[in-house]
Amino acid sequence: NLKIGVLALQGAYAAHAEAVIALGAKAILVRRPDQLAGLDGLIIPGGESTTFLRHLERDGFFAALDTFVRDTPTFGTCAGAILLASRVENPTQHSLAAMDITVERNAYGRQNDSTIRTAETTLPGGPLEMVFIRAPRISHTGPEVEVLATRDDFPVLVRQGHLLAATFHPELSPDHRVHRLFLTLAAEHKSAAVESNA
Ligand code: GLN
Repeated sequence: NLKIGVLALQGAYAAHAEAVIALGAKAILVRRPDQLAGLDGLIIPGGESTTFLRHLERDGFFAALDTFVRDTPTFGTCAGAILLASRVENPTQHSLAAMDITVERNAYGRQNDSTIRTAETTLPGGPLEMVFIRAPRISHTGPEVEVLATRDDFPVLVRQGHLLAATFHPELSPDHRVHRLFLTLAAEHKSAAVESNA
């Protein structure tokens, strides 16, 4: 059974845990850095990235997470995507700098700051519902980054190796295809690790 951590310092973690459980994996609410040990993957939920950074200042949590995301599958949604990005703008902000993307925080302004869109993506199974809440915009992606979905020509779901990021909230839709994709990445990573230890 896959063990998937959900960073539970603040923000939208409960619905992520429910999605993970619905797909048959074990969900662990991570509130301390020592809980990162032994996880097959981690979800960093939406919320407020500045608040996350403040919580992560304690107990060496930021450094532990920084080490973790270098080689363990991690999925950042919204504020979580901001934490994974190499470059954060509006305003410039500290991050884990694990994915070669530039994000602009709160990029849709007051009028359009929250919206639900349904669009085709590269995921099989037809159009995907995407819930945006004070979303950032991915304004640049590096060559290693694969774009899986877009909104108005800007990437909203991206993958770089073992890392996945969404600027929307897949945990708020009944469709679990994005979480299933992440669990597939985590499972592949786990079996590759088992093989290299054999
Ligand atoms: N606006 C938030 C930030 O900049 C992200 C919003 C979200 O996670 N829904 O951190």
